[in-house]
Amino acid sequence: MKKEKISKYCYSESVIDIYKLIQKYQRNVVVKSQLWPAHNHLSQSIAMTNSAPQFRIGNGYDIHRLVPSRHLIIGGVKLDHPDSLGLDGHSDADVLVHAVMDAMLGALSLGDIGKYFPPENPKWKGSDSLVLLESITNLIKEKGWEVINIDSVIVAERPKLKPHIDLMRGNIAQRVGIGIDNVAVKATTNELLGPEGREEGISSHAVVLLGKP
Ligand SMILES: [Zn+2]
Repeated sequence: MKKEKISKYCYSESVIDIYKLIQKYQRNVVVKSQLWPAHNHLSQSIAMTNSAPQFRIGNGYDIHRLVPSRHLIIGGVKLDHPDSLGLDGHSDADVLVHAVMDAMLGALSLGDIGKYFPPENPKWKGSDSLVLLESITNLIKEKGWEVINIDSVIVAERPKLKPHIDLMRGNIAQRVGIGIDNVAVKATTNELLGPEGREEGISSHAVVLLGKP
């Protein structure tokens, strides 16, 4: 009898079904913690309410031109480009933070950052993108969701980003209100290929997982 049910659930692709199976057949909360080791608090709140968690995933992408006479700000960190180039844009053109915000909005099908901070509005000229990230975080929270983790990558030939990665992670983690361990920022060159490789611009990709306890 039990085997049939386990088999039925094991063929299901739904995490919720698997979770229901655990709730039905396992009384040990440790098993739940093993499923979501980085988010025991979420597992525990689920165990208390006896309801399944909801998850949403979002994807974000952005690219900005490299031009003279502009600051180079990525992940809230002001960098020095060897040729004194910076990113062009209406705000501070923080390509990484823009990709993260788009991923957060995308997870809830709320559009993109252009909808909330339209470039034609002078109000957003020269904006600190970390401040915009804070307001997008508040919007997500108002909808009853919380950010579980962020993964991202910056595509740039120069300058070397590695020494600044932890500072970028900290800046994003602080504005989103999560631990730095839940924010990944990676950097890669484009092997001299494409617009990033020719240093015409710098791009960034981000993925965000949201949870509703
Ligand atoms: Zn942008």
